[in-house]
Formats: sequence, C-alpha cells, structure tokens
Amino acid sequence: MSTLITNLGSLVTNTGTPLTDAAVVIDGDRIAWVGAAAAAPPADDRFDAEGRAMIPGFVDSHAHLVFAGDRTAEFNARMSGQSYTAGGIRTTVAATRAATDAELEANLTRFIGEALRQGTTTIECKSGYGLTTEDEARALRIAAAHTPETTYLGAHVVAPEFKDDPAAYVDLVTGEMLDACAPHARWVDVFCEQGAFDGDQARAILTAGAKRGLIPRVHANQLHHGPGVQLAVELGAASADHCTHLTDADVDALAGGDTVATLLPGAEFSTRAKYPDARRLLDAGVTVALSTDCNPGSSFTSSMAFCIAVAVREMGMTPDEAVYAATAGGARALRRTDVGLVAPGARADLLLLDAPSAVHLAYRPGVPLTAAVWQGGVRKV
Ligand SMILES: [Zn+2]
Repeated sequence: MSTLITNLGSLVTNTGTPLTDAAVVIDGDRIAWVGAAAAAPPADDRFDAEGRAMIPGFVDSHAHLVFAGDRTAEFNARMSGQSYTAGGIRTTVAATRAATDAELEANLTRFIGEALRQGTTTIECKSGYGLTTEDEARALRIAAAHTPETTYLGAHVVAPEFKDDPAAYVDLVTGEMLDACAPHARWVDVFCEQGAFDGDQARAILTAGAKRGLIPRVHANQLHHGPGVQLAVELGAASADHCTHLTDADVDALAGGDTVATLLPGAEFSTRAKYPDARRLLDAGVTVALSTDCNPGSSFTSSMAFCIAVAVREMGMTPDEAVYAATAGGARALRRTDVGLVAPGARADLLLLDAPSAVHLAYRPGVPLTAAVWQGGVRKV
C-alpha cells in the first residue's frame, strides 16, 4: 500500500535545503520517494497537503515518562520563590513505587499519545523513579513495550534508603539492579550533579552499564558546572544532556567528540533558570539536539514545538537550526539513521503542519500546528 502526499508548500528533509512544491511517497512503513510534486510517481492513495509544510516527525531523545503522581505544589512553590534542587525527585519516587503496573502504563501511554498528537514520532523514556531493583526493572519493562529507546536511570538520585551510604547504592546500581534492568534497556544514564552523583560515581555507573551492552548518555552540567560533559565525551556517550553550565574546555570537548549536546529548555523555563547557550555550541561545531525532558518535577511539557520556540527566542538558535535539532539532532542523540529525516528508505514518520513553513513553529508560539502525523507509514493524527 503506497500513499502520495502531494502539494507540500515546503518540505524540510534534513538532507539539504528545504524543497518547495514537493511531494513524498510512502510505501509500507518507509519513505519510497521524495521530490518535486510535478515529477511524483503514481501511488495507490493520494493526500493533498493544500500547500502546507511538512517536516520529519519530532525525535524527543530525553523524557521521563514512567511515573505516578504530580508535583503541582512544588512548581507552585518554586514560582513563588523557592529554588529547584535534585531532591524533589524523591517525591515522585514515593508515588511511583506505590502505583500499580497498570497505573504506570496508563500514564505512559497517555503521555506518548499526547506527544504523538503534537508530532513526536520517536520518544526516549527513562526509568529513575523506582530506585529499587524491582521498581527500576518494571519501569523499563513497561517502557520497552511502547518504545525501543529505553534508558536505565537507576542513578537518578540516591534512593532514600541509602541516603547515609551512597557508595552502597552505587554498588546496587552497578550490580543487581543493572542485571535486572539491562535486558529491557538500550541506554544507561546518570544524573551527574551536586546532590545526585559525582564524577567518580558517574564513571563507575556508565562503565558498568557499557560492559552490559548499554550505551552511555549523561545528565550533565544542568544546575552547576561539573565533570559530566567531559566524562560523557571521554566515554563516547551518545549525548550529554542539559549542558547549561559549560566552560570553554567543555565546549571544545563536545566539538572534538561524537557526543551530541542535548538542550532541554523546558527545564530552565520551569525552574526559572538560565538557558543553555545554543549559539555558542553551534558556532563551535557541536551537534545540538532539542528535547522536552518531559517529567513531573522540572519540565512537565511534551511539546517539542514549545522547546523550538524557546530555543529560538532565548538560546540564539535560528528557526531552521531549532527544527533541525528537534528532528535530526534528536536522531543523532539516539544514534538513529532511520528517523529525523525525509529520504527514501527512512521510516515514514512525518509531521504535516497547519502552516506554510516550519518557521511558524517558533513564529506562532503556543499555537497547535499539527495538521496530520504519520508514524511508520500509518496516519495516526
Ligand atoms: Zn532528564
């Protein structure tokens, strides 16, 4: 079954300059053809885009979606003057441990659906609100049923039971908990931050994960300057996430390595913090991704369009750079070559915007612009 999507006013392919008067042919779950509408081959079915813009489906490479409860009160307090610390995570840990599998899965599918309706066709999902062997493993088991991009984040914070003996918690995270989680995870992550895990602990956790076949990614340099970014590059992590507090040496390390800098402006927005400097990273030649960091504590948004708008307004990105970061950049951060682009052979993950160009994602902040979404060749929205 093939479908011709034609009369695209503009088409962002991420393989060159955007096309105008373009068309795309989907065959099965893949893109079969891309080019000028006038030259399009015939297909079984035809969809008229009526001059609107199409981009690859968003690739959200950083989200925390297996949890229960919410933290409205904490957000409200923060917006009334209290500051954000890593410790608030423990509130969600208590609620998540108390939830049933069915409750956690219902929450997860609700958020994945919410993201899909906004054009996100690939989404990464971390554990990290269980912090026991059993609760971390079940979070990943539930997540793995809904996305291939699952990340073991037993090292989100030290579990409350180990607050007087963090070394013993690191032993658990690198031992029995890792054994239980590795079969359900593709990635291993650590929150390298004051109040969470220091550089030595982070190194031990990422190295242990890598020995089990998990690929490292790091929550790095979010709240303070720290060793996270340098460690990520040194260990060949796919991504260093947040990158808010960087020295020139950190920027140089990212520019010289294969580690993507994933920026998460929803976190700074929701904690009223300083935004990362995307312009500085781009000018240094670093590959930048934009993601939501969707989580109940520090960034409760699933909107990639919102992240694009903030990145353009506050972080020095052009609209084109921000759209690229939210699609191809996310794909790089997940080491995926089949998503984040519109090209023959790629997965048919496509977002049709209710707008004449992708610039409108930043130009019309807060406005729902999803006209249609295809995921794996299937029209979902
Ligand atoms: Zn995060």
